[in-house]
Amino acid sequence: MNDVRTLRVPSLVRVKPGASRRIGIYLQRVGTRKAILFASAGLPAPLVDSVLLALEDAGVSVTRTDVDSGSFEDAVRLFESVPPETDAVLGLGGGKALDVAKYIAHLGGRPYYAMPLSLSNDGFASPQSSLTIQGRRRSLVSRVPTGVVVDTEVCRLAPDILWHSGVGDLAAKWTAVADWKLAYHHDGTPVNDLAALLSDATVMQFLARPERDLEGVRLLATALLLNGVAMELAGSSRPASGSEHLISHALDQISQRPRLHGLQVGVAAYLVSGLQGGNQTERIGELLDRTGFWDSIRADPFDPDEWRLAVERAPMLKPGFHTILSTMDAWPRIDRQIGGDPRLAGCFGP
Ligand SMILES: [Zn+2]
Repeated sequence: MNDVRTLRVPSLVRVKPGASRRIGIYLQRVGTRKAILFASAGLPAPLVDSVLLALEDAGVSVTRTDVDSGSFEDAVRLFESVPPETDAVLGLGGGKALDVAKYIAHLGGRPYYAMPLSLSNDGFASPQSSLTIQGRRRSLVSRVPTGVVVDTEVCRLAPDILWHSGVGDLAAKWTAVADWKLAYHHDGTPVNDLAALLSDATVMQFLARPERDLEGVRLLATALLLNGVAMELAGSSRPASGSEHLISHALDQISQRPRLHGLQVGVAAYLVSGLQGGNQTERIGELLDRTGFWDSIRADPFDPDEWRLAVERAPMLKPGFHTILSTMDAWPRIDRQIGGDPRLAGCFGP
């Protein structure tokens, strides 16, 4: 079968200290003249100013818009205000600003440059935008960024909980790939071997050195970025998202107070890996131990009743999407693990 999809992958990748202050030079080199910057509301002024100055110094004129809502309606409204001669869209900051900027670039067919200031999930480089429609979070088809600029110096200073969330989202790649292979054996869901390999390899690369220093930030950023590329290669979210993401999506619907995406996903990955068999549980556990991930969970434990409902609802969320949860009554086993696994002590409330 011929695959005639056009693959879009980032052609400009800068992951290093001070990268955000060099954005002007990067854009000038590719001929950008007029950019629009969507920045998270509330970012420290010196940080945003340094980006604006870098652009202006390089002769790139720039309009700045602050983003405080991640709704589809607001994204469309902001898209309509983009000046017609704009030849680059930049997103700076956290999830909402990056998702909105990415979607606006996609609507206008313009190059998009992602500048995440923390690494709390793999969304900065994925081919989807996560926006809310009538209050519900939805993944909309979007585009992989043309450029990804990660200032490792800035990301290193982000709060611990965001770092742990990024690690949790990364841990999910192992269980996602395992679910993908189960789906292949169950109903012939095509597996793109290169995408699966890339997904698996990026976690191993980070696990080899999961330190929270500039080099560790570089490895985590690169791993999350390559996951976005793996999704683009596969033409689906399969390399990055399986049953652990379904549980997290269900928690977002059920929970009184959903936690950060990567915190939910990381714990869910650890739990479903036990159902999938093989040696994944130990690998994931080691990754989560070595990065101090559990500290962020114990600081604000989960509600086991919400998790029970989420595990039961998860397989219903995406009809036709086969995972380990599709064929078993998973909760009794997960419940036993929560009660008996020393790693999970203190991670679930009374
Ligand atoms: Zn995720």
